[in-house]
Amino acid sequence: MTATTFPTYRSRYLPAMSAAEIAALPDKEWAPVIVTTGAIEQHGPHLPVAVDALMGQAWLERIMPCLSAEASCYVAPPITIGKSNEHVGFPGTLFVSKDTLRLLLFTIARQIAAWGFRHLLVLNTHGGNTDVILYTLAEIETRWGLSTGFLRHGVDYGLSEKERTLGMHANTAETAWVRVIAPGCVDMDAAVAEYPDDAASAGELRPEAAPATFAWVTADVSRTGIMGDAPAGTAERGEAWLATTAQAYANQIETICRKNRSD
Ligand SMILES: [Zn+2]
Repeated sequence: MTATTFPTYRSRYLPAMSAAEIAALPDKEWAPVIVTTGAIEQHGPHLPVAVDALMGQAWLERIMPCLSAEASCYVAPPITIGKSNEHVGFPGTLFVSKDTLRLLLFTIARQIAAWGFRHLLVLNTHGGNTDVILYTLAEIETRWGLSTGFLRHGVDYGLSEKERTLGMHANTAETAWVRVIAPGCVDMDAAVAEYPDDAASAGELRPEAAPATFAWVTADVSRTGIMGDAPAGTAERGEAWLATTAQAYANQIETICRKNRSD
């Protein structure tokens, strides 16, 4: 049996390096440090609560082989518990406050700056974290002089309008991804399609992705904890989406590296 290293991107994983190795890294002026931000929260009856935390690692594993020799980046320890207060009331949801998430990110950024890095990128896998991260990144730029970025893959999965606008959680895409990365943790017999009530999402007022949105908690809009068409998330679609999305993320990192090197 061949020994495998964990994680597979170990040569870029800062916690796997000695202090002397980190001090001697030659490209700290331009190579970004990536922090993944996930969540531990209910993901319907068919997916494990760690989906968002797992996805950060899944993306990193697939992104790194896509990077060219001219690109470089390093990986900070992940933030695996996020701001998931919208999923209260379901067992398995473990969350921190917006203030704790902000402080965690802020503190990691401060240390990274002290080690000599100049660029921080967040790869976020949980929608509930997004607003907190964006305002914290602005604060990090002004306080610590790091340039910051928030990766967005922008890949069109060709999903129906209903899935794109109301399929927010434990949906087709998440189900498909996890069937590939952790098939033993998925119970497709329990997967159902459930969308927030039409009454609650009529016209232009919807929970998300609409001209007018309202604050929601999952228990108000979903009986099972699923918002989306979970059974449509096949492993075949998952394989394809993982590959195209990882490549899109890698392209974005390449662009950022080029820009950092030319600045
Ligand atoms: Zn999720």
